[in-house]
Amino acid sequence: MADHRDMNVTVADAQQAWDLRFSAPAAVHAWLRSVPHADATSVQVLAVEAFLEWRRGQIRQALSMVRQAEEALSGDGQTVWHGRLLNLHAVLLYISGDIARCVTLLQEQLSLGQRLQDAELQALALNDLGAIMAWNSASSAYDYYRQAADLVTDGSPAMTAIRGLITANMAGVHHHQGEFALAAPLVDLAEALILDAHAMMLWPWCVNLQIAQATHAGRYGQARQLLNAALARLDERSEFMGEALHMLWLTAARLELQLGDPGQAMIWLGRLQDEDALRGDARLHLLDLTASIHAGLGDHAQAYRSMRTLLETLLKQYQHERVTLVSRLELHRVTEAAQLQAQEARQVTSALMVRLDEVQSIKGHYERLSVTDALTGLSNRRQFDRDLPFLADDDGLLMIDIDHFKRINDTFGHQTGDEVLRDVAVAIRGALRPGDRAYRYGGEEFAVILKGAGHTQLSTVAERLRLAVALGRHDPAGAVTVSVGGVLVDAVTGADAVRHADTALYAAKQAGRNRTRLTPAEPGSAVREAGRSAGDRNGE
Ligand code: GH3
Ligand code: MG
Ligand code: MG
Repeated sequence: MADHRDMNVTVADAQQAWDLRFSAPAAVHAWLRSVPHADATSVQVLAVEAFLEWRRGQIRQALSMVRQAEEALSGDGQTVWHGRLLNLHAVLLYISGDIARCVTLLQEQLSLGQRLQDAELQALALNDLGAIMAWNSASSAYDYYRQAADLVTDGSPAMTAIRGLITANMAGVHHHQGEFALAAPLVDLAEALILDAHAMMLWPWCVNLQIAQATHAGRYGQARQLLNAALARLDERSEFMGEALHMLWLTAARLELQLGDPGQAMIWLGRLQDEDALRGDARLHLLDLTASIHAGLGDHAQAYRSMRTLLETLLKQYQHERVTLVSRLELHRVTEAAQLQAQEARQVTSALMVRLDEVQSIKGHYERLSVTDALTGLSNRRQFDRDLPFLADDDGLLMIDIDHFKRINDTFGHQTGDEVLRDVAVAIRGALRPGDRAYRYGGEEFAVILKGAGHTQLSTVAERLRLAVALGRHDPAGAVTVSVGGVLVDAVTGADAVRHADTALYAAKQAGRNRTRLTPAEPGSAVREAGRSAGDRNGE
């Protein structure tokens, strides 16, 4: 059965097929079958087809397509498709055990990727070189993976899948070094990336690591559960999962052997019909496992034969390894440029992060400015309009207006008027409770929102505030006073509250200024008449 995502995807051209090769292989396959006969032998179509064959586990078939495509390559410069073929060819050689040529092709791919500035080509080359390096040196393999990961910045499905693969490889390095605590979060990340990209064919890399971690910790039940879940999920997509399934079957066989059931292990191995499909190192594990299983079943002659084959393969690989070591010197030269590029990219990124922080704090600064009154530093009318809809029952609203302010301006000038405005603001703020908020409503009018005040607090604060102004700053002509109108929010909201407070303020003015009026006014409340202070020289 096809990947469910495939059903909704139609592939239009070779580039798209390439980009969807991990996440929608069935759709890519459908596209391949629809390609006109004349185009079927083009470089691009052959490359896409070779990729799918490889993933199905048809290594020989894939290799022959790559060779056909290489013959079809015209001499007109080197394109990204040339690089992709180099990668396919390299990987297929790796699987076939020809590591020396594989390394040469990957180096070629890396420098072509650098020339074309193609991140995917470079990242895949570095990743695959890392996988080869892992035989010799875990730390240098890790460096390759890190460089590769640095290059993968875009979030397309293919690049996400590749990043997942690279991350799984990094986890693998930690795992093989026994650093399980470091490996675990990387495995999780790799799995998240791979599943996010729907790259099911890469998923077994993560599952295998998870199973290895579980068995290492002696959690065999969990290991078996992980395995069964993975097999169930992959089986139905098996058409393009050949390589992935081979990995899981090998793991299943190893697990059964560990659980003391060599017979069951043998059954799993029996499913690995085409062992060519296994990568070089996987084949070693297979031989090792086969020998152990035969020994477990008491068939020592077979076990001996498997061990011999294993030894021969190891000897062959040892020769490759020496060639690889020599190639490494060459490799470091080529990758130096890539390293520098990645370093530059890191620097640019961190410079950008700093800039981003700056922009954020500038933005915050301007946001604060836009709701602050420049003269008094109180919140401004814009902030008041924003806060008004959030008035709730038992909140208080005060409107405050300076008495005869025009006279102050007229007598002492606007500058003194401004100073008075600032001082009144300071007095108001000083009279508030924590959590209350004062605003310059406009001109010489202020507003205060008192959260959860209730009637008592409303009148107490209003009076405290009025007195603070009256007893506070004195202009040369005498005290500055304010009139206060207040409302207790209860059934009235928003604009209604302002209107009611305004009416109360008007009443305070009418009653002679320098006093407080509240709505609803409590009959007999001291507040009603409180307020006419001795210093009310501006009152009428
Ligand atoms: P009332 O007691 O009835 O409120 O009398 P008033 O003089 O305070 O009221 P009116 O509305 O007649 O005058 C308000 C004055 O406030 C008029 C205006 O010039 C002045 N004003 C408004 N904004 C500012 C400001 O930012 N700075 C200064 N210095 N004066 C301002
Ligand atoms: Mg006024
Ligand atoms: Mg006034």
